[in-house]
Amino acid sequence: YGDGNQKIDYVFKVVLIGDSAVGKSQILSRFARNEFSLDSKATIGVEFQTRTLVIQHKSVKAQIWDTAGQERYRAVTSAYYRGAVGAMLVYDITRRQSFDHIPRWLEELRSHADKNIVIILVGNKIDLENQRAVPTEDAKEFAQKEGLFFLETSALDSTNVESAFLTILTEIFNIVN
Ligand code: GDP
Ligand code: MG
Repeated sequence: YGDGNQKIDYVFKVVLIGDSAVGKSQILSRFARNEFSLDSKATIGVEFQTRTLVIQHKSVKAQIWDTAGQERYRAVTSAYYRGAVGAMLVYDITRRQSFDHIPRWLEELRSHADKNIVIILVGNKIDLENQRAVPTEDAKEFAQKEGLFFLETSALDSTNVESAFLTILTEIFNIVN
């Protein structure tokens, strides 16, 4: 049971990964609390936030984990990935390097996480279209090749944040049902 008397049918752990400053914490804050901050401090300590939503008449508690400022390659521990059924792999569309590092994150994810984990590639900060450094097509092609879902988001103006989480949560829901 969750807050109040609400019955919880499922709890799904989802992990956020990707380079520092791509917007992981703000994506989470937007999804869990509908808040955004332009001067967010680097995340301290392992943290997760939850939000309960209804999928096909069942209540699903999404437990979303955010990295503890451990974004250096290989610094995220295996405990972080343990039990995760979904992963959001985030880059910043204005920083090419954050996209170039995605294969490393994917490799790390695949070596630590369950092999059936549902993964979505997310290009964040599309409100900064005039500073775009990663063409949508490049990311779409990569996602297709690797069998990942793909969306571009903005935590600042909310574009696709809800859709990105719903995409993985619904897919996970369909796998367990
Ligand atoms: P993290 O290190 O990946 O957790 O990144 P943060 O969530 O801390 O965000 C890093 C910086 O990018 C902060 O200054 C955020 O306010 C900013 N930011 C995050 N998401 C967006 C977005 O969608 N658009 C814009 N313009 N800035 C964003
Ligand atoms: Mg953070």
